[in-house]
Amino acid sequence: MSDNLKSRRNVRVRYAPSPTGFLHIGNAQSALFNYLFARHYNGTMVLRIEDTDVKRNVPHGEDSQIDNLHWLGIDWDEGPDKPNPKYAPYHQTERQDLYHKYIMQLLDQGLAYKDYATEDELTEMRETQRENGDAPHYDGRWYGRSEADQLEAEAKGLKPSIRLHLPENHVYAWDDIIKGHVAFNSDNMGGDFIIEKSNGMPTYNFAVVVDDYLMDITDVLRGDDHIANTPKQIAVYEALGIEHPNFGHITLIYNPKTRKKLSKRDKETLQFISQYKNQGYLSEAIFNFIAFLGWSPVGEKEIFSRDELIKLYDPTRMSKSPAYFDQSKLDWTNAEYIKKLDLDDMTDRVLELVSEGQSDLAKQVQGLQLLDLRGFTWQVCKIYQSEVHQLSQIMEKIVWYTNILNEHIDYNQLNRFDRDETVSVLRSFRNQVQVLQNEGVARDFNQVIQAVSIDTGVKGRNLYFPLNVAFTGVQSAPQIDEILHLYATNTIIALLNKAITEM
Ligand code: GLU
Repeated sequence: MSDNLKSRRNVRVRYAPSPTGFLHIGNAQSALFNYLFARHYNGTMVLRIEDTDVKRNVPHGEDSQIDNLHWLGIDWDEGPDKPNPKYAPYHQTERQDLYHKYIMQLLDQGLAYKDYATEDELTEMRETQRENGDAPHYDGRWYGRSEADQLEAEAKGLKPSIRLHLPENHVYAWDDIIKGHVAFNSDNMGGDFIIEKSNGMPTYNFAVVVDDYLMDITDVLRGDDHIANTPKQIAVYEALGIEHPNFGHITLIYNPKTRKKLSKRDKETLQFISQYKNQGYLSEAIFNFIAFLGWSPVGEKEIFSRDELIKLYDPTRMSKSPAYFDQSKLDWTNAEYIKKLDLDDMTDRVLELVSEGQSDLAKQVQGLQLLDLRGFTWQVCKIYQSEVHQLSQIMEKIVWYTNILNEHIDYNQLNRFDRDETVSVLRSFRNQVQVLQNEGVARDFNQVIQAVSIDTGVKGRNLYFPLNVAFTGVQSAPQIDEILHLYATNTIIALLNKAITEM
């Protein structure tokens, strides 16, 4: 199979979201593997909007898909915004005539038929089947019925749905790019299935075939929740007398705690791409992380750029077994990407989150109305770049350091040290910065710390821990001299006074 894939030409793949919700990590995973497939084989990536389930479409569902795909760096060559006249339109609701043409063809050939059974009748049919211990299925009651029967139903005002007739005991099989050989028997597929609803809308299983065929799609990569749909689609291809594309069913993402498919009810796991963005995950990191949900290259390395992933991508290395969502790995990946950012770039990204104001934290930072927000943010990034795993943690630090005088600091921590020594360190520091302030000299906090050490004779932990607590609230703070640059001298003095009185 791999050789066959490697020699592939004119690859055309598609990502085909239904705008029934916002871009979810599962959608992003399908989009991403289609993207890698298209780019790896120098093929074409198509974006098609499957919007026929009009009642389930949500406002801005399509925009959310598009904006978040852009954010992830997934682009496409054809889609509603980049129509290729040969294949347009790219919204299924605008392709009704095309579906209808093929429906008529199947009706004329007797391969599909009208079903006038009412909802109540079908419910009753399924209940009886269940009572008899049978799997619910359509029993073919309208297959081969006379024109007179049809006219009678029409006269009653009944609107038919259209079903595809499945031959008995027929095997629908395919060599799945990911799962290997898969086969279904037509006797176990729930009976003749609907291809056009009574409201005239095609069903997913029909529209997707017509579109994939007319759009010359060569490879269909989608979530493995669609595996049971594939034999139905192959049945449509066979009925239409056309060849089906290759299929590859991508493993779904699972919650490692429940060991079940990640569901929107799993509140502790972020699932929408916009949430990752607003928490300060980098799009490159999310891209890298998702690429490993259901695929892995040879070797142990886990951090790869988009271009490296495109080059390395090999569909034969897609995993058959569930992909577990590993939050600590996501955080580790993001931290690795944050560490590599240029400080100005990191600052820009934090400021973008702030200005978009999509989280409470971002709104809090906006509310601080800092005069030099950029300078402050840059400094916080400098101090914490190697420690944080989400950019939202930088926003937390901005809020904390700006409000430091109102934050609760546990001064009991200072009781671990010799009281007289600690007080003398804090007082000496206060004197030193007051002198600097009075003389209007630039503040070099390393020098101040050295001077305090000489003045008090206190060194090492006994010197640094009290200063850390006084200025940051914690005993082990990174780079105290850099942190002090976040404060006005008056704030430094106020913090020292507070520590001295409250310890
Ligand atoms: N609209 C379908 C979905 O969102 C697409 C499935 C497919 O790729 O065929 O699940």
